[in-house]
Amino acid sequence: MENVTLTINGQKVSAPAGSTVLKAARQAGIDIPTLCNHPALAPVGICRMCLVEVKGMPTFQPACTFLVNEGMEIQTESPPLVEARKFVLDMLFSERNHFCMYCEMSGDCELQNLGYRYGIDHWVYPTYTKRFPVDSSHKNLVMEHNRCVLCWRCVRSCAELTANHTLDLRKRGIDSMIHADSHLPFGESSCISCGGCAQICPTGAIFEKRSAFMGRGKLAEHVKSTCSRCSVGCGLEIYIRGGNVLRLEGDWDGAVNGGRLCQKGRFEPLSETRPRVTQPLLRRNGKIGPASWDEALQSVAAHLGNIAAAEIGVLTSSRLTNEALYLLGKLFRQELRAANVGLSDRTAPKLMDQPRGTLADILAGDVILVVGADPVKDQPVASFLIKRAADKGARLIVVDGPDNGLAAFAHQRLEMAEIGKALEFAERAEHPVVLYGAEVSEKAGEALKKLPAKAAVLALEPGANTRAAAAFGLANGFKPDAAKFLYLVPGEENWDGREELQKAGGKGFTVVQASFESALTAKADVVLPMAIWSERGGTLTNTEGRVQQTSPAVKPAAEAKPDWEILSLLAQRLGKKLGASLDELSARAAQELK
Ligand code: SF4
Ligand code: SF4
Ligand code: SF4
Repeated sequence: MENVTLTINGQKVSAPAGSTVLKAARQAGIDIPTLCNHPALAPVGICRMCLVEVKGMPTFQPACTFLVNEGMEIQTESPPLVEARKFVLDMLFSERNHFCMYCEMSGDCELQNLGYRYGIDHWVYPTYTKRFPVDSSHKNLVMEHNRCVLCWRCVRSCAELTANHTLDLRKRGIDSMIHADSHLPFGESSCISCGGCAQICPTGAIFEKRSAFMGRGKLAEHVKSTCSRCSVGCGLEIYIRGGNVLRLEGDWDGAVNGGRLCQKGRFEPLSETRPRVTQPLLRRNGKIGPASWDEALQSVAAHLGNIAAAEIGVLTSSRLTNEALYLLGKLFRQELRAANVGLSDRTAPKLMDQPRGTLADILAGDVILVVGADPVKDQPVASFLIKRAADKGARLIVVDGPDNGLAAFAHQRLEMAEIGKALEFAERAEHPVVLYGAEVSEKAGEALKKLPAKAAVLALEPGANTRAAAAFGLANGFKPDAAKFLYLVPGEENWDGREELQKAGGKGFTVVQASFESALTAKADVVLPMAIWSERGGTLTNTEGRVQQTSPAVKPAAEAKPDWEILSLLAQRLGKKLGASLDELSARAAQELK
C-alpha cells in the first residue's frame, strides 16, 4: 500500500494510506491516550479520549477512526486537547462509582491511569448519584455496573472475537447499562464463559471471580505458554503470584488465538479439585503405599524385563507434550516392540499427505463445511472463528447429527450420507474451507479427498496433541484384554469411567502415570506422579501441525515430575538411550514431526 506523509506534533511521519491517525502515531512512537480502543477490536471512537487537532478541521477528531492524508498536520497534546480530555475524565469519574481503592482493578485500570496522567485529583461534578446493581450470578465472572464506562469493549469482544453476541447496551443516557440477552442475569444468559469480556474490560466492571482481589495483575509474574486442553493450541499468559497461578489470560500475540480463550482453557484448569498424586506409590503385600522414585521405577523396569512384547498394553492421554509422546513411542513401540499401544481420543483420518489449510483460513472462507467434527465442544476457539466467518457472510454447512454444537448457527445441516450435496457448495465457492473430524464416515472421507485444490482442508483433532501422538505411532488402537502389563498415562485426565479399563482391571501388572488420585491409581501396582500443565516445559503440536512452546510457571507439586522426565528416567532404567534433556528430546521430536 502507498505511504502518505503527515506531521504529528511537528514530527514528520510516514504511514500507509488508509491507516488511522492513532495507528500512524503509535507506529512513530507518539502516544495518544485511548479508552474504548483496543487493537483486537474494530475502532468505534465513542470515548473521545483520543481526540486530536487536525489543521483545517473545525472540531477535534477521534484519532482511532480518523484516516491519515498526505500533508495532514496533527496536534495530539495541545492545551485545548488536554482540557477536553480532562472534561471527559471528570464526567466519567463522576458518573458512576470510581472509588478506586475498593476496586479489583485498582492499579491495573486504564481509567485510573488516565486520571493520574491528566491530574484528576477531585470530583468536579456531583458524584455517585445513582447506584447500579452488581451482577454476580455468573459462575466465573462479576459484572459491576458501577465501574462501567460504557466503552463497549465487552460488547464488541463478545460479538467480534467470540461471535457469541450475548452482551449489548440497554436504556439510554445516565441509565445506560451493559446487559446480557435482553436483561437476563449474567449467569442465566447465553454466555459461554470464554472470559473475553473480562480480559478486555479497561476498568473493574467485568472481572473474574476466582482471582478477584488477589493482587494486581501488573505486579504478578507473567509466563507465556500454550493451552493443552484441545488441539487448537491457544497462546496463554499465566499470571503467577507467590508461586501460585492467579489466573489465565489469552495471549494477544498468540499465533492461533490472538487473545481469545474458551471456558475450558481459561477457567477449568484453575477449578480443579481432585487431590494430587504427590509421590510415587508401590503395591506391596496387596497394599498400595508410598515409595521412592528409585523403588517405583525399579519395579516397573523389573516387570517390563519379564514380559513378552505381545503382553504389553499402553494407553495414553493426548494432553502430553511432544517430548513425552516421542519417548512413549520410542520406548514401547520401537525398543520394546509393543504393538498394543493406543491413544485415549479418537483421531481424524488422514485424508491428504499434507494439511491443505490452517485455522486462519476460516476467516477468509465463503463456504465453510464442518464434517463429523463438533468444534463448539472439542475445539471451542475454532468454533469462534467459524461463527465469525458466518457473521461476515460465509455460508456454514454442518454435516453431522442434530446435536452438533454448530447446528444452531449453520445455514444448513446435512446428514453424513448427504456429503455429495455439501461438496457441491464447496465446489461452487471461491474460498471453500473444509474442517473434518473423527466422526467423518469412510465414504465421506473418500469424497473429501476429491475436493478441488482451491479448498482449504483441515482435520480438527478431538484430542489435544493427537497430531504428535499419531506421528509417533501411538494412535493404533488399544486392546486391554490382551495385556498382562499395562502402562496407562491418564496424566491430568479422569479415566475412571473408561469401559475398556474396567475390563482390564486386576488382570495384570498396572502402572499409572497420573497427576490426580482416582479409582485407577487406587487399583494400580505402581503410580508415577506427574506434573500438570503449569508445572512442565516442552512443546505441543496443534491440529494444524504447528509446534508451540509450553512453559513451566510453577514448581511441580511435591515429588511429581514432568511427563517427559518420567519416561526418560524409565528408559534410562531399562538401559535405553533415548535422550535425557528436554532440549535434546524437543529437537528429536521436532525432527520426526517434520
Ligand atoms: S464471557 Fe465470553 S461469551 Fe460470555 S459475555 Fe463475555 S465475551 Fe461474551
Ligand atoms: S463493562 Fe467494561 S468493557 Fe464493558 S462497557 Fe463497561 S467498562 Fe467497557
Ligand atoms: S480452544 Fe482449546 S486450546 Fe484454546 S483455550 Fe480452549 S481448550 Fe485451550
